[in-house]
Amino acid sequence: MSEKRKYKKRYCKYCEAKVDFIDYKDVGSLKYSLSERYKIMPRRLTGNCKRHQDMVTIAIKQARAAALVPYTVSRKVVAATPYEEIR
Ligand SMILES: [Zn+2]
Repeated sequence: MSEKRKYKKRYCKYCEAKVDFIDYKDVGSLKYSLSERYKIMPRRLTGNCKRHQDMVTIAIKQARAAALVPYTVSRKVVAATPYEEIR
């Protein structure tokens, strides 16, 4: 329930910010579309539009290949610090 509240408003925040290009090096903005285990959040939760969700997906995959975002996270790491390490 609390997780749904977080994404209650159904609008694309990238459209609102008029983003045309999502940089894979900008991990801070990618984090919004990542779950706490670094999985890509589905569009129904983030409210992103199709266009921006595709851009985010590509950017996250590039970031993973560049080791800016981990592919998988073990349970123990998640419990300790979700986002501390990727600054
Ligand atoms: Zn959008």
